[in-house]
Amino acid sequence: MVGAMLKDLALNQRDAYLQTLRDLAGLESPTADKEANDRVADFLSPLLRKDGWQVERVPKELVGDQVVARYDAPGDTSTLLLCHFDTVWPIGTLEKMPLKEEDDKFYGPGTMDMKAGITTAIHALRLIKNQGLALRGPVTLALTSDEEKGSQHSRGLIETLAKDHSRVLVLEPGREDGAVKIGRKGIGDFQVTFTGISAHAGNNPQDGASALRELAHFLLLAESLTDYDKGTSVNVTVAQAGSVSNVIAEEAHCQIDMRALKVEEAERVERTLKAYKPKDERVKVEVEGGINRPPMEFTEKNKVLFAEFEEAMTRVGVKLESAVVGGGSDGNFTSILGIPTLDGLGSAGEGPHARHEHIRIEETLERLALLVAMLTEA
Ligand SMILES: [Zn+2]
Repeated sequence: MVGAMLKDLALNQRDAYLQTLRDLAGLESPTADKEANDRVADFLSPLLRKDGWQVERVPKELVGDQVVARYDAPGDTSTLLLCHFDTVWPIGTLEKMPLKEEDDKFYGPGTMDMKAGITTAIHALRLIKNQGLALRGPVTLALTSDEEKGSQHSRGLIETLAKDHSRVLVLEPGREDGAVKIGRKGIGDFQVTFTGISAHAGNNPQDGASALRELAHFLLLAESLTDYDKGTSVNVTVAQAGSVSNVIAEEAHCQIDMRALKVEEAERVERTLKAYKPKDERVKVEVEGGINRPPMEFTEKNKVLFAEFEEAMTRVGVKLESAVVGGGSDGNFTSILGIPTLDGLGSAGEGPHARHEHIRIEETLERLALLVAMLTEA
């Protein structure tokens, strides 16, 4: 089908699209609330079945159940669409931040990040089916429930599914200017515990081994690993030590936030932190945690997928920029496995995790057209 027609067809979905988004965003779903997330799974499963998807519910004990929906079609190019339905907003936020449509914007908690992305997936497949367009191959939609807390309970599922597909399209929102995301920084979290020897600071301080002093040495070393030219930052963001003012500190704790653009940089930081040798040998240091999300680099495979996306943009008549951004997503997991990955396709808008969170409706519908173009034969 001619791309320009795809764009018109997508723009015509406006009312139906906003209704689905309203329904989804109306179900509040903070990551920590399993029941609330289960209600989103309850809502999505029959809706997807009605649209012709094969729906599998993946039960989870500690977080919301996850949903994997499959749309079978002949063809060699299989696509995994990645979405999450948990949000950062606590229950009750809707009272203070009600859903509202104003000008060309749709506001509300969890709209941009990322119930609009889920809506884009649903309506793209609906449009493909209703227009009788030919898919390039099977499509799988993964809907997870713990992305905002690091995807600990869905990473395995995402990785298993990714290995079964020829490419991954992540329906997270684009950058605020609408750019799609071709690279993302990796994230590391470290928790460090220092255990020294307490002593009276007045009577026998020399018998003490200060955990706090060791933390200070460690902090300076950790932050010296920062290399802004390479896009690497290491910050000790939380620290606690000591008990009362006349006692040499027996215990100290700190937390570290690490961001890196390059896989080798993330590994360098992790290696160095874990190999730390205390200056005072009497203090024990335990470094826990590590790289939580590896960097998503603009690899050769990702470049090939992006070139396809450029063709889709030409076909539809929409031009989007591409960007490397600081935050991570589930696309980081699939890209590092060598599965071609492109992110930021789900919606355009502003203010993810902020009071003014909204999507720009028309631009988001153009992305729907782009997704249809990516999934179907030209
Ligand atoms: Zn998100």
